[in-house]
Amino acid sequence: MNAGAHGEAILDRVESLTTIRGTEITVTKRAGLDYGYRRLALTPGEIVISALLQMTSGSRAEIEGRITALIAHRQKSQQVGFPNAGSFFKNMEGKEAWRLIDEAGLRGYRIGGAQVAEAHSNFLVNRGGARAADFIELSALVKEKVREQSGILLEEEVRIVGEE
Ligand SMILES: Cc1cc2nc3c(=O)[nH]c(=O)nc-3n(C[C@H](O)[C@H](O)[C@H](O)COP(=O)(O)OP(=O)(O)OC[C@H]3O[C@@H](n4cnc5c(N)ncnc54)[C@H](O)[C@@H]3O)c2cc1C
Repeated sequence: MNAGAHGEAILDRVESLTTIRGTEITVTKRAGLDYGYRRLALTPGEIVISALLQMTSGSRAEIEGRITALIAHRQKSQQVGFPNAGSFFKNMEGKEAWRLIDEAGLRGYRIGGAQVAEAHSNFLVNRGGARAADFIELSALVKEKVREQSGILLEEEVRIVGEE
């Protein structure tokens, strides 16, 4: 899904990707990959088995400083305190999903055990005993209210598996 953060994503660093489908192994250079924001097109059943990464060199102290600062930022902004699946919706049209959800007044909104986290409104958390249906209902409500408020239809970043 081309995970990323802070303006960079893993596929920016990938030189080539090796996948297997059935017994067929394919090596594809980055230019040949169909990918984008939180998206990599693979054919059904195609599995990534390795990747060649191109790194850039830099000063150790500078790199370590950046890592420490980013981890601290993440711990501060994403310390939601309850089980969650990370960012629930993708950022859309250059607008951060958490801001759109906030503007729709949904920070802290709860359905059953599922809640829009108080600490970060793009995290849906399990406050205890949440059912899959609570999350599905809450995410549908978030999409509806955000569309009413901003005209933007949010798309899930998480993949819902096993529910219609
Ligand atoms: C607290 C938290 C914070 C997060 N923060 C971020 C963030 O900042 N940025 C971000 O981008 N994401 C973030 N995520 C989401 C995370 O990056 C994704 O959930 C990630 O894809 C998980 O990978 P996995 O291998 O652990 O999960 P899995 O569930 O194993 O895989 C995720 C998907 O990839 C497929 N897949 C797994 N392995 C392969 C393979 N070898 N070949 C082909 N398909 C495969 C699976 O079928 C599934 O659809 C966060 C998640 C959490 C819980």
